[in-house]
Amino acid sequence: MKKRIIILSIIISLLSLYIGFLSFHNNNSKNDTYNVNKGNGLKVREKVMKKREDNKDKDKDIKEEVLARLKSEEYYIPTNLDRYLNYLENNPITDYEEVVKRVNVGIDYEFYTHRKQADYSKNTLILVNKYNYVRKSFVPDLVDIESKYTKKSAKMAKDAYPYFKEMVEMARLDGITLFNVSAYRSFETQKAIYHGYEIVDGKENADRYSARAGYSEHQTGLALDINTSSSLDHFENSLEFAWLSRNAYKYGFILRYPLGKEYLTGFKFEPWHYRYVGVDAATYIYENHITFDEYYAYFLVQNEL
Ligand SMILES: [Zn+2]
Repeated sequence: MKKRIIILSIIISLLSLYIGFLSFHNNNSKNDTYNVNKGNGLKVREKVMKKREDNKDKDKDIKEEVLARLKSEEYYIPTNLDRYLNYLENNPITDYEEVVKRVNVGIDYEFYTHRKQADYSKNTLILVNKYNYVRKSFVPDLVDIESKYTKKSAKMAKDAYPYFKEMVEMARLDGITLFNVSAYRSFETQKAIYHGYEIVDGKENADRYSARAGYSEHQTGLALDINTSSSLDHFENSLEFAWLSRNAYKYGFILRYPLGKEYLTGFKFEPWHYRYVGVDAATYIYENHITFDEYYAYFLVQNEL
C-alpha cells in the first residue's frame, strides 16, 4: 500500500512537472513572445522616441543659441549663415566674432581658391587679394609721380595721387620725410617679382609676402610702398611709420597688411605698404581696427545683395 502511494505521488509529481514544462513552453511560443516583446517594444520605442525628441529639442536649443549669437555679431552677413555654421562645425573655434570675420573675408576657402575677377566698378574701393584678381589686360588710369615724391620714376592711380602728395607735404611740415619706392606695377612686373621670390624662397614662403601676378594691389595703382619695402629695415620702428600710423587715414590711406592680421589678409605685416581707399573708408578702418578685406565684405558686397 505504502509502495503504491509512493509510486502514485512520483507519477503525480512527474505529471505536474510535465504540465509545468508545457505551460512554460506555451508562454514562450511565437505568439506569446511577440505579445510580450510587443509590450516591452512599445516601451523601448517610446523611450527612444522620447530621447529623440529630447535630443531634437536640445539640438534646436543649441542651434537657436548659435544663431542668436551669430546674428548678434556686428559684422554678421545673413547670406553667409551656412558658411558660418560649416566653419563652426569643422573648426575647433568658439569665438563667434572670429568665425564671422573669417568667413566674411573668405578664408573658409583656401587662399587662391574660389577666385573671381575683382569688381572694377568699385573704383578706388576695388578689392584685390588672394581671391580677387585683375586681368592681365587691366590697366588703371595712371599718372607719373613727380620726382620729389618718389625714389625712382613711377606711376600711380590718378585718383589717389593728389592725396598722396598732400600726405607727403603735411608730413614734411611735421619734419617727416615720405617718398614712394614702389607704386603701380604691371602684370608682367608683378609676375617677375613673384617669380624671383619663388625661386629663392619657394612658393610657400613667397606666398606669405608676395602676391601672384593678377593678385597684387600694386596692379591697381592705388597701393604704394613708402620709404622701404624690406622687413630688414624695420620701418615699424621709425618716426615715419609712427606718423603714418596716426595720420595716413586722414588722406585716405590705410596700412593694408597690419601686424597680427596675416591670417585674414594672407600677407605678413608690411609696415611700408599703404593703400588708398578714400577718407571715409580709411577713417572707418582706422577707428575700428579692421582690415580692408573685412570692410569690403560688409560694406561693399553685402549692401549690394
Ligand atoms: Zn607693397
